[in-house]
Amino acid sequence: MNRYDGVDLRLNVPHSARMYDYYLGGCTNFAADREAAGHALAVAPWVRAAARANRAFMHRATRALAHAGIDQFLDIGTGIPTSPNLHEIAQGVDPRARVVYADNDPIVLSHAQALLTGTPEGRTAYVEADVTDPGRLLDAPGLRDTIDLDRPVALSLIALLHFVPDASGAYGIVEHFKSALAPGSALVISHVTPEFTPEDVDRVVRVYAAAGTAVQARSRAEFTRFFDGWTLLEPGVVPTPAWRPAPADPPVTAADAAQYAGVAMAL
Ligand code: SAH
Repeated sequence: MNRYDGVDLRLNVPHSARMYDYYLGGCTNFAADREAAGHALAVAPWVRAAARANRAFMHRATRALAHAGIDQFLDIGTGIPTSPNLHEIAQGVDPRARVVYADNDPIVLSHAQALLTGTPEGRTAYVEADVTDPGRLLDAPGLRDTIDLDRPVALSLIALLHFVPDASGAYGIVEHFKSALAPGSALVISHVTPEFTPEDVDRVVRVYAAAGTAVQARSRAEFTRFFDGWTLLEPGVVPTPAWRPAPADPPVTAADAAQYAGVAMAL
């Protein structure tokens, strides 16, 4: 399978979503992805634990927001489905929850069926869109048909923004989304940081660059800037495993997680 619906999936070129799937033990990855992911694991064996800690953060943050009463979710940079996905967590708390997934990788679209199996009371939709064009993403018919932007939405940008360098306008993009959301909305972000293991992270960044994907790891201050003007929820900006840890999650050190996490609300 090299094409899906007439789209060239470029399976001979490594892709970040499929490399990430490989770290998580998924089966939607191909020789080129496994080779590049193998290089990342060779320079930084903790990448696998980092990916798992990131998923566990997504689960905890989504569950917390659903318990706080948010019933609309927009997840950009969804990735290849890995159960439980965000809609399973949100609808596990509130079966009426509505979830829109968005990714720019056609292979994620080709697996969208697995993302669209929501509860009968709720709704899930998938839009193929690029986070760097917020206006277009927010205007996608599938999005407006599923969630109402006049009501609170939890926007998740999980392990996504390190793929959006400053040169691509990362801060302006996030501000565009924030300004489109109603009061009571939430912003959930996790992001690679060089602060705990700078040399290892630098090597991983170079593996991705060699595979054709620009990665910008950001400091705590640079990460925190994405939440400007919104109110960070407890415990603030912390490494992914330290955001409201749950006893069931395997313990991962900050150095192995190599990502910051935070959740903020527009009050
Ligand atoms: N959020 C998931 C997956 C993270 S991997 C999780 O945390 O488990 C990053 C995802 O972002 C990949 O699926 C990749 O295809 C997607 N992505 C990268 N750049 C993007 C862009 N410019 N627009 C939309 N999605 C993007």
